[in-house]
Amino acid sequence: MPHIDARSVDGLDMTIDRGAVDALAGGMRGRVLTAGTGEYGEARTLWNGMIDRRPALIARCLGVADVVACVKFARVHGVLLSVKSGGHNIAGLALADGALTIDTSLMRGVHVDAPGRRAHAQAGCVLGDVDRETQIHGLAAVLGFVSNTGIAGLTIGGGFGYLTRRFGWTSDTVKSFEVVTADGRVVRTDQDHEPDLFWGLRGGGGNFGVVTNIEYELFPVGPEIMGGAVAWRAADAPAVLEMYRRLVADAPPEFTCVATLRHAPPAPWLPREIHGTPIVALLVCDTGPTDEARERAAAIASFGTPVGNVLQPRPYLQQQALIDATQPNGRRYYWKSEFLPGVEDGLLKACMASLEHMPSPHSAILIFPLDGALNALDEDHSAFGSRDTRAVVKIGAAWDDPADDDANVAWARTAWDDITPFSTGRTYVNFLSAGEGDARTRDAYSANYQRLADVKRAYDPDNVFRTNKNIDPASGAGRGQG
Ligand SMILES: Cc1cc2nc3c(=O)[nH]c(=O)nc-3n(C[C@H](O)[C@H](O)[C@H](O)COP(=O)(O)OP(=O)(O)OC[C@H]3O[C@@H](n4cnc5c(N)ncnc54)[C@H](O)[C@@H]3O)c2cc1C
Repeated sequence: MPHIDARSVDGLDMTIDRGAVDALAGGMRGRVLTAGTGEYGEARTLWNGMIDRRPALIARCLGVADVVACVKFARVHGVLLSVKSGGHNIAGLALADGALTIDTSLMRGVHVDAPGRRAHAQAGCVLGDVDRETQIHGLAAVLGFVSNTGIAGLTIGGGFGYLTRRFGWTSDTVKSFEVVTADGRVVRTDQDHEPDLFWGLRGGGGNFGVVTNIEYELFPVGPEIMGGAVAWRAADAPAVLEMYRRLVADAPPEFTCVATLRHAPPAPWLPREIHGTPIVALLVCDTGPTDEARERAAAIASFGTPVGNVLQPRPYLQQQALIDATQPNGRRYYWKSEFLPGVEDGLLKACMASLEHMPSPHSAILIFPLDGALNALDEDHSAFGSRDTRAVVKIGAAWDDPADDDANVAWARTAWDDITPFSTGRTYVNFLSAGEGDARTRDAYSANYQRLADVKRAYDPDNVFRTNKNIDPASGAGRGQG
């Protein structure tokens, strides 16, 4: 076949000459995959099984030069570009039909400068890669809760995890980025070099280029911490959640406790008769002094009549992968979420009511307290902002059978309607599902949106990077595929 069917940057059908693709592949260290080649199927697989997209080309880059070659190729041929790292975005933004996908997921090197407390991580790393290399020095970056999530999407979209109350959004802890811009330049940007680009990349997502390396500040953590979970029957949820509300209101920044409402998974730490029944669980990560952490853990575990308790001293690395099994690749997922000014009684009641109607045993409602370091910075410190956030609630629908799509999406939407009165009015761009459009992107950035549009105009005036939660350089209005 002399041509490959593709989609242009403007969304029109087009063809690319196969000779040009061969020339691109010949000049790269990595491979360029097309439909029908062996690895294509695996390379277009995303975490969310709801998303089924077929790029024209998937370039499995092995270095920055490969990324530069792909950006230039896309510009010359006018083909739509998408960028994939961990492939965990709920809306599937890493892929687009007919696009050239720049896949960085094979670029997974990490260099730790332990005395300088810095990690330099390539964009294809998953969280566990960075944790593994930093923990041998007793250090950690501020990353998320599931170890196989990509660092790139998480960090440039904001990022939070067990250490956020101590140190802020993940993007607050980035010291520099290496990025390939729309004109094919390789730029190292930090507070002093191209500071507007640095500002935009800390929360503004993949709107400004392809990030190839991230420099994180590291903090002494572990290697052992107090962590795990305690669970109670759902009938105890009113008392447990009231205890939780008081606990997190007074907790020191070292203590992070996530409330979960769901059906009990068939996990060995929960008795068999509980499996599949509604529970409330508190997921704890306490990096405070050992004696204080033990005291806090004992107070939680002795509250009421828990049905399971695995809150104990454990390696931080283990904690970072504790809930991985609840989020398998390929299941069908749909999320709704809101940032909260606090954990109000009415919010907890709404969440408990939604648990009663949860149609799938794999779904969960999660409340993460985030208050602390992030509140101390100004709203315009970085693109991400949301400095009034004190917690986030996520309605996470998860199920297996496509025949159950409508019921599960409807449940998540109804549950979301019930929690929106308790929102700050802002939402987390990295938790936006497919179909949540421009207005939600603007909600996510609020007062910082206009400056993001200015940075976009300066670095990507032709909107080459548009298959994301898009900042439109022309109108200042979001116009992404999600
Ligand atoms: C199971 C699970 C757990 C999660 N837990 C957390 C959590 O604890 N905390 C948290 O903050 N978030 C969490 N998230 C949300 C997560 O931050 C987003 O899904 C994020 O987009 C994932 O990044 P990725 O690299 O895997 O994404 P991808 O799907 O590969 O990409 C996501 C977006 O980023 C862009 N992008 C990816 N790589 C690059 C790059 N190198 N340069 C430029 N743009 C790029 C893509 O084009 C796309 O628009 C979780 C998600 C999942 C599925």
